[in-house]
Amino acid sequence: MRRILFGLIIAAVVTACSQSGSNTTGATGASGAAAMPVKHDPNDAEWTEHGGGTDEQRYSALTQVNADNVGQLGLAWFAEIAERGGYQSTPLIIDGMLYMTAPWSSLYAFDAQTGKQLWKVDPQAPREIAATSICCNISNRGAAYADGKIIWGTIDGRLMAVDAKTGAQVWETRIADPAQQYSITGAPRIGDGLVYIGIGGAEFYTRGFIVAHDVKTGKEVWKFYTVPGDPAKGPDGAASDDVMAMAAKTWNGKWWEKGGGGSTWDGIVYDPQSSTVIFGTGNGLPWPAALRSPGGGDNLFTASIVAVDAKTGKYKWHYQATPMDSFDFDNTSPLTLADITIDGQPKRVVMQAPKNGVFYVIEAATGKVQSADPYVPEINWATGFDKANNFKPILNPAADYGKTGKGFYVLPSQAHVWHSQSYNPQTGLIYVPMRRGVGSFFAEEGGRILGNQMVDVSMGKPPVGQTRPEVKNPGAFLIAWDPVARKIVWEQSEGSGSAGTLTTAGNLVFQGAPGQKVAAFRADSGDKVWEASTQGNVVPGPVTYTINGDQYIAVISSASTGFAAAAGKNRLLVYKLNGTAQLPPAAPPVELVLNPPADFGDEATRTRGEDLYQRNCTGCHEGGRMFSGFPDLNYTVALNDPGLFKGIVVDGALAENGMISFKNALNEQDAEAIRSFLTARANELKRNPPRQGGRGGAAAAPAPAAAPAAPATAPAAAPAAHQ
Ligand code: CA
Repeated sequence: MRRILFGLIIAAVVTACSQSGSNTTGATGASGAAAMPVKHDPNDAEWTEHGGGTDEQRYSALTQVNADNVGQLGLAWFAEIAERGGYQSTPLIIDGMLYMTAPWSSLYAFDAQTGKQLWKVDPQAPREIAATSICCNISNRGAAYADGKIIWGTIDGRLMAVDAKTGAQVWETRIADPAQQYSITGAPRIGDGLVYIGIGGAEFYTRGFIVAHDVKTGKEVWKFYTVPGDPAKGPDGAASDDVMAMAAKTWNGKWWEKGGGGSTWDGIVYDPQSSTVIFGTGNGLPWPAALRSPGGGDNLFTASIVAVDAKTGKYKWHYQATPMDSFDFDNTSPLTLADITIDGQPKRVVMQAPKNGVFYVIEAATGKVQSADPYVPEINWATGFDKANNFKPILNPAADYGKTGKGFYVLPSQAHVWHSQSYNPQTGLIYVPMRRGVGSFFAEEGGRILGNQMVDVSMGKPPVGQTRPEVKNPGAFLIAWDPVARKIVWEQSEGSGSAGTLTTAGNLVFQGAPGQKVAAFRADSGDKVWEASTQGNVVPGPVTYTINGDQYIAVISSASTGFAAAAGKNRLLVYKLNGTAQLPPAAPPVELVLNPPADFGDEATRTRGEDLYQRNCTGCHEGGRMFSGFPDLNYTVALNDPGLFKGIVVDGALAENGMISFKNALNEQDAEAIRSFLTARANELKRNPPRQGGRGGAAAAPAPAAAPAAPATAPAAAPAAHQ
């Protein structure tokens, strides 16, 4: 009776939180005290760009905190943040102020020395879109700074600019329509007087694009679609644009009816040397490739790295990492620019370690691949690379499960998603959170709607006649990759496979670590040299800066997911040498107790309930969107109260939290059928508890091999971000 929905993978970080006591405001004004001028040394080091600099190396030249004295690091201050949901934001530090974004796209400003909250802007994204328009989570990965403004995207598809000192709105413009299931979770980047932003929504029927807007006015300057539109239609269609015409030759059928995919939800980097914007694109959709493009084709520019002219958006080059992707192999992972020496020649390269398990080093100006090496050695979706053809991967025919009809165990699965990597020019190493595990995909006859996530595959049905592949060293790790020697130099199992990194000239790598900690490792050897309890999961990359000569390390920690979030705090935690601040004692963990009523309803009711649940509820409460922190309904007290359950599902009693009324889709009998199914499932779980681990766990509790037979809600199988 039960199906596993996303029976793959590895514990990803599931973060969510619950707290009260914040200031909230309307879209047009900042709340809190008027910004106080922060007195500080003009020579202080700042963190003015998402990636710590234009090249996105997340490297700091600061050495006050170093591998010899990092043991003296202590908490300087902390601040609590209200929004419930996953925290993925990289803070910015400019002129003594620290800015960070929060779930629902709120923007906070703090005094970077004292932690005093100066103001907050809540752009008032309508909460009901959580149930209809957000493919993956309600998080936000950060803001940009330019021209005295803080600029960031909102979950409902707007780009906002406020005065960096006061939070007063300067402009606001719509990038994408949530009614078309677009969202924005990524951080904007700045270059040539423009702000660049991509969109999320790849697991919906969307068509990917990236846009550039004028920093001063907010007006659109250019837009680049990542997949061709309907050839019969206007200037954005395939017929009337050289690049889109080229891309259209790699598609078949009527792909545009379902958008095609290629969302641009995270990795973007601006290269000032060549005035180029280089960005990654997400998976094609729907999966598998045979469904969206019957008859084959590589499906440009899905699962690719694309370069365009920064001023005009005109196409420069592309490299498609995964042609005809059927495995959610987004290429949206972070992109890092660096000047390195290959075979005695200085090269300016862009580097990426995407979900497909291959580390790419690509010449930034030309797109010429320098190397493509599996960082997960046993990858099985490709059998090699055609070096004469710019390292085009040679696909494994058995992996084309849309064609074989047999399904496929793919290795790796979600090897590295969005969590920031960092490159240290002193060690020549790049520090990547990574996971080694197996996923399974099986094409269902006629496609299938999984919640409102338009995935036409089952990820739980075991492939036919195949043995699950072995992963030699499964789990989650922090790895140090040498892009010149093309190998892993060290790996650290006490690091995280799903938390961002920061590296410094103090021979350090900082990262959130399993067990609700933040840790520091020696950049040259990977030895752990410091850790501190954070009472929450540190997922986004740390940042560092100085105020009046003191070096600070800032991290964001978020509470656990679902019901457990009630006990946790979301906090900005800022450390310095000999810091003496103390966190209050941690609240005791919430013990989730299975307490369903006795089974009720007949088999037909439960089956109908399961079907309704799959179509309407799983998007938030299972699998792909658990990053949002929506509760695990096995544990809800509402199972015991039909009136309460109906009140929530049909009448919208929890609409404030994003759980809108489903009265347009479900009536009282439907709600009761769902309750019947959930009750039976909770009772089954009570009789056969899952193995330990995972729930509310820290970044990267390793659970690489969730068996296909695991229960649908197996806590250890928290999914990666299917963005
Ligand atoms: Ca995806």
